[in-house]
Amino acid sequence: MAKAIYWMRNDLRLGSNPLLQRALTENQALVCVYIHDPRQFARTAISVPRLGWHRRRFLAQTLQQLQDDLHKVQIELLQLWGEPELILPQLVEELGADTLYFSRECAPEERSVESFTCARLEPSRTRVIRAWTGFLINPDKLPFAIEETPDVFSDFRRRVEKVGLENLVLRAPEIDFSVSKNSRQLTTAGTLAYRTVQKHLQKISSQAAWFEILPEESALLQAVEQVQGPREKMNLLCGGERQGQTRVDDYIFNKRSIATYFETRNGLLGLNDSTLFSAWLANGSLAPGWIYERVKSYEKQFGSSKSSEWVVVELLWRDFFKLMLLKYDVKFFLRQGIHGEIRTRKIDRRDVNESLNQILTASTAQPFVNANMRELVQTGFMSNRGRQNVASFMINDLEIPWTLGAWCFESLLIDYDPASNWGNWAYLAGVGNDPRGSRVFNIEKQQSMYDPDGLYVQAWS
Ligand SMILES: Cc1cc2nc3c(=O)[nH]c(=O)nc-3n(C[C@H](O)[C@H](O)[C@H](O)COP(=O)(O)OP(=O)(O)OC[C@H]3O[C@@H](n4cnc5c(N)ncnc54)[C@H](O)[C@@H]3O)c2cc1C
Repeated sequence: MAKAIYWMRNDLRLGSNPLLQRALTENQALVCVYIHDPRQFARTAISVPRLGWHRRRFLAQTLQQLQDDLHKVQIELLQLWGEPELILPQLVEELGADTLYFSRECAPEERSVESFTCARLEPSRTRVIRAWTGFLINPDKLPFAIEETPDVFSDFRRRVEKVGLENLVLRAPEIDFSVSKNSRQLTTAGTLAYRTVQKHLQKISSQAAWFEILPEESALLQAVEQVQGPREKMNLLCGGERQGQTRVDDYIFNKRSIATYFETRNGLLGLNDSTLFSAWLANGSLAPGWIYERVKSYEKQFGSSKSSEWVVVELLWRDFFKLMLLKYDVKFFLRQGIHGEIRTRKIDRRDVNESLNQILTASTAQPFVNANMRELVQTGFMSNRGRQNVASFMINDLEIPWTLGAWCFESLLIDYDPASNWGNWAYLAGVGNDPRGSRVFNIEKQQSMYDPDGLYVQAWS
């Protein structure tokens, strides 16, 4: 009887998941495991965990739904606490699994965890099957090697569009759960007696409140909560595959907001100014290929437009930064940037701390920046326009090293994704993929263009 472990990472969905489909088809017994890595709880420069509270809430909701949905098709989702590279080899041995399946990640830390896991599994000759699940276009089908991905987005886009997106999109048939009918759960009550599972289950239960707000996070919240802004976006951003799918269908088909995306995408307040798909995309409860199919189905019914096409272009930006991360590896995170240029001058650490404090407590001299920061700290979301302005202000006006800004966003964003976050920050700092060098935003001018009646600033002041 073929037995396998499916290690769930940022592919927290049942639909459009070719790797999970494969694991179901190839095995008679399967267990899914999600491992909470303590390294994600390390404190960043702003003294809060890397995995901040908005993302933890969203993750907890996602995992709960996934666990329930898997349970319905008789598959167990184990949530364990520890380092995956240590836990997985033990689990494989103790559960007698023949194969380990997992989705490939782009960031160096996650990739080294993969390599260590594989190296530790080598003596047991366990089969390891890994695949890309988070891209819009399949990296294995690119018309160039990943290391040769063009550094400028428009060149990249031209090259992939020349081949035709239709030929490159990472698609997956919907999962046929009837194949799991015959499967035996690998973790029956009996097998749960195994040492590793038990030990790490105990650890997770002692971390029972892992998703609750920590005192240091609460202090950050209190600093901005003298102003309570609108909560609609936060209420909409609930974790779980079904919530994500509902949002996609609502945005594209029910509200047909996709028809005006190009014109509204820079909006700051409206629930349908932009898609708000990013948080579900970041933890993989939505597959970009599935969204692509929904957009194509909309275009078939209602016709394509610059707006509907632009949603796909934005998804290509997401892929572009992932490829850049794979291409430049650790350089992607360095202050001097991917080409080793040093553009920021050395500044006094005390000044940096003071400036950072102004940003985090939303008490800078710029009401537009403050409003965006209040929204971020309170809800975990900030519009793309807001992110660009806050980043530019931090880098150019406050002269905070861009890497510190990226760390702040890593902890605070509900949709944090290493490639999109660090890639966009480096881009704005002029040490990344912007062929025009750094961008300095005139905050007052931006405010008058994108919040002409002051409604956004008013809502968050
Ligand atoms: C400083 C900075 C940091 C950022 N950090 C992140 C991050 O950690 N995670 C993240 O998902 N996005 C990040 N972005 C990109 C972008 O701001 C968000 O994806 C977007 O605001 C999410 O809202 P939406 O889903 O409504 O986007 P929409 O405008 O509706 O776009 C649709 C989708 O396209 C993708 N997308 C759009 N713009 C970008 C972009 N510039 N780069 C990469 N992908 C894009 C996202 O997946 C998004 O969900 C960052 C941008 C900046 C300027």
